[in-house]
Amino acid sequence: MTTIQPIGAELHALARRLYPIPRSITGDGVRATLAMLAEWVPLRVVEVPSGTPVLDWTVPREWRLRAARLIAPDGRVVADAAVHNLHLLNYSAPFHGRLSLAELEPHLHSLPDRPDWIPYRTSYYRETWGFCLPHRVRESLPEGEYEVLVDSELFDGALTYGELALPGEREEEILFSTHVCHPSLANDNLSGIVVLAALARELAGRERRRLSYRFLFVPGTIGAIAWLAANEAATARIRGGLVAAGLGDAGRFHYKRSRRGDAPIDRAVPAALAALGEEPVVEEFVPFGYDERQYNSPGFALDVGSLTRTPWGRYPEYHTSADDLDFIRPEALERSLAAYRAVVDLLEGNETYRNLCPKGEPMLGRRGLYRSTGGDEAGRERELALLWVLNLSDGGHDLLAIAERAKLPFARVREAADRLLEAGLLAPAGDPDLDRPPTGR
Ligand code: ZN
Repeated sequence: MTTIQPIGAELHALARRLYPIPRSITGDGVRATLAMLAEWVPLRVVEVPSGTPVLDWTVPREWRLRAARLIAPDGRVVADAAVHNLHLLNYSAPFHGRLSLAELEPHLHSLPDRPDWIPYRTSYYRETWGFCLPHRVRESLPEGEYEVLVDSELFDGALTYGELALPGEREEEILFSTHVCHPSLANDNLSGIVVLAALARELAGRERRRLSYRFLFVPGTIGAIAWLAANEAATARIRGGLVAAGLGDAGRFHYKRSRRGDAPIDRAVPAALAALGEEPVVEEFVPFGYDERQYNSPGFALDVGSLTRTPWGRYPEYHTSADDLDFIRPEALERSLAAYRAVVDLLEGNETYRNLCPKGEPMLGRRGLYRSTGGDEAGRERELALLWVLNLSDGGHDLLAIAERAKLPFARVREAADRLLEAGLLAPAGDPDLDRPPTGR
């Protein structure tokens, strides 16, 4: 018997299972992560061989870690990757030797301002090794000879990513992407991983999808670049998307716009969150951050925004051992999933129609659509929504544009369109570039 858990607890439980896995941009950590996600969704796992040219980059060597320890002169273990993944500089090259404290110093990383936290550091594109320590521990290190053991391997293997394509009635596709390369950091980015996995599971289970969806679970930067390099033709179908990260902290939602700034996704996210009673902080695109950088590069220009809670780098726990399982909250994860679901639902409902009776107003009373709901506020809003949808359904305005112009909730406008469709007064506009608004004889 399995018990049905509240979704927030279920998301947090998955994050807890993913937390100890020693991830990096390549290697078994990513594979183990994707294997766990495959319990929820039928992910396709793609392996791109080391050395493969991908856009202007090259797929790096695979990293394998067996053990990493820093041992003090008295034999005490100062740092051990088996105790905390962050203790080892991620992607450290192999090294075994004895060093004086002075020789060791350039290889140590700590945070003087947060003396009890272990920093997260990587060295992906410069071959070296290192250890990350609480500053308090680092300051207490005695002089003497240290033993360094980094039993790792960098070899020609592969970069691994996960992909899930969910076809819909239309070819137009929405992209959801998240990075899967960070070890033992909960908000950045187990939160993004579990929220997208849950969203993908829900969408995979839906009977009807109007749009198509693609989910990418990729190592940061190089994973997104590898996917783009291999799927350039497929990107033509992408109409927008979101990069998911930082979705488990208690902070307010933040939406970073696509490079274009007024793409459908940029209009959809604030409207969808408003329907949930959330008002996200909306920020303009900048060419740094997560993988929206790659998707919005000018050669692709995929209209991908990023929906997070507190943005990266703006909370002290960011990239430290304090970004742990207590830092992310089940209720925040659950609410983040609701926000992503609301965006999907809005995009699903955001169709463009043509008024089939465009000359003068159609007689709504005859069709039971007018003054049928009484004079209360909701009734008035329903009536206004009908009139706005009729007036702006010329093939050139989608329902979201109508909601914005009418200053009405999207759901109200969607409901009006459904009633008008039922009354035979609207028809799908089809491709706005091919279909002109109906003209008179
Ligand atoms: Zn990060």
